Amino acid sequence: MRIKLDRTLCDGFGICAKHAPEYFSLDDWGYAKLEGSGDVPAQDRDAVMRALLDCPVHAILELGERRPDDDHRPLVDTADPAGSLKTEDNEAQWGFTR
Ligand code: SF4
Repeated sequence: MRIKLDRTLCDGFGICAKHAPEYFSLDDWGYAKLEGSGDVPAQDRDAVMRALLDCPVHAILELGERRPDDDHRPLVDTADPAGSLKTEDNEAQWGFTR
């Protein structure tokens, strides 16, 4: 599991640091700071999830995991768009608009 802390949202309630002090500390003004890289091993997942779910302003975000079998290709239609353009030849398929 990977997490990210959006400090612009944090309102400084300190709940995260109470639930998962290894991952969240509070600065001098009581706002949360993420400790470490944001990677959370399985054994700490419950504590971090509790911090995430209890954060009243949703400042803690769970980032999606990259799976080794992801091919990372964008989900775009690679078909040639010129094939669906309206022309004199296929006007009957599109209807008469003149
Ligand atoms: S629980 Fe949320 S609002 Fe409270 S200190 Fe942590 S990140 Fe900030």
